[in-house]
Amino acid sequence: MALIVQKFGGSSVANAERVMNVASIITQTYSAGNNVVVVVSAQGDTTDELIEKAMEINPRHSKREMDVLLSAGEQISISLLAMAIEKLGFPVVSLLGWQAGFNTTSSHSIARIKNIDKERLRNELDKKNIVIVAGFQGINKYDDITTLGRGGSDTSAVALAAALRANKCQIFTDVEGVYTADPRKVQNAKKLLEITYDEMLELATLGAQVLNNRSVEMAKKYNVELEVLSSIKRVPGTIVKEAETKEKMLVRGVTKDTDVARVSIITLPDTPGIAFRMFSKLAASNINVDIILQSVGRNNTKDITFTVQKSHGSLCKQLLQEAFPDITDDKIFIDTDVAKISIVGAGMETHPGTASQMFEALFDVDINIQMIATSEIKISVLIESKDADKAVAAIHHSFFPQD
Ligand code: ADP
Ligand code: ASP
Ligand code: MG
Repeated sequence: MALIVQKFGGSSVANAERVMNVASIITQTYSAGNNVVVVVSAQGDTTDELIEKAMEINPRHSKREMDVLLSAGEQISISLLAMAIEKLGFPVVSLLGWQAGFNTTSSHSIARIKNIDKERLRNELDKKNIVIVAGFQGINKYDDITTLGRGGSDTSAVALAAALRANKCQIFTDVEGVYTADPRKVQNAKKLLEITYDEMLELATLGAQVLNNRSVEMAKKYNVELEVLSSIKRVPGTIVKEAETKEKMLVRGVTKDTDVARVSIITLPDTPGIAFRMFSKLAASNINVDIILQSVGRNNTKDITFTVQKSHGSLCKQLLQEAFPDITDDKIFIDTDVAKISIVGAGMETHPGTASQMFEALFDVDINIQMIATSEIKISVLIESKDADKAVAAIHHSFFPQD
């Protein structure tokens, strides 16, 4: 008998009709003779609405209480889905993260799964129950509820599939799979039949929301093959798996990330150790620095520009000014009206000219590039955020001309 893990995102369970639809997918899988473990997210925009409620009452709330609040979203959806399955006449049980054995690190709002204690899950499966597990949550060593970061239910599903050695892990969502660009933004985006873990990891990290990047990291680590597919339209989706030796595709997808701030510091002394001191200060406060650009020194000074997550922009300024009194207000600038546009593809490392094709596409629509970063399988550029959608469309059109 096979064991299948199925995950349903917020839009797939947004209302009663959608919940009944999901219940019928699950019970069909069960009726075909499979054990089924299901992970669900909070309904629709519930998580965002809960965040709004918290901000209204106390914007300086503790992360512990926020986790208690946000985990309630998934508590609602697991119980409703279980009730829908009861209505269809199937044996079912819903479990919160801690009941399903999700032990996590202690850091609230960004906890990582340490291990899954499988005893309860195994007992429920032995009883032939369909098991519905609340995604995005677990418990830490202090017996406090933790959450895994936005989009964390994908990771819950992959972790369960790995722990239970499931035969399949299906991620159901509101689009038909992974596309060459966000299909809601780019009309001609094409569905990919397959994609490698490494490429998917880059796409997810660079803004393709369809899978959470940690879930892809975990799938790669434990070799869990994923299928991303629609909960609405029953057609084959995208398989995410290990690379095969066949030809690597030049570019797999184009992404946009608007959660970016650019920090520029001008006229720093051109002496050794400046970058080290600055960035170690930021690292000590857990600020992740992404693209970094340093100008060539002139007149004994240099400029350093880098990008961080948008919410870290002003904290960067504060930390750097505290540590370096010379960085006065006229020497440090934070720009939050920027976006990072990237292309990802394992084939680009052996294909000269990919970068110039991307830059040409931007030039053709008159978009100025502020910063550039490359790795073996990606190229990212920083541009003004107002041009972001136009840039994605132009680059997509260049690499995936309409058939
Ligand atoms: P869920 O609620 O199922 O977790 P998400 O909203 O987190 O779904 O992710 C699905 C969304 O990801 C899609 O509706 C789509 O707009 C967006 N998306 C962005 N980039 C891509 C891409 N390259 N392929 C597919 N979907 C993408
Ligand atoms: N409900 C959580 C969120 O909105 C987790 C998830 O959907 O994966 O981020
Ligand atoms: Mg999601």
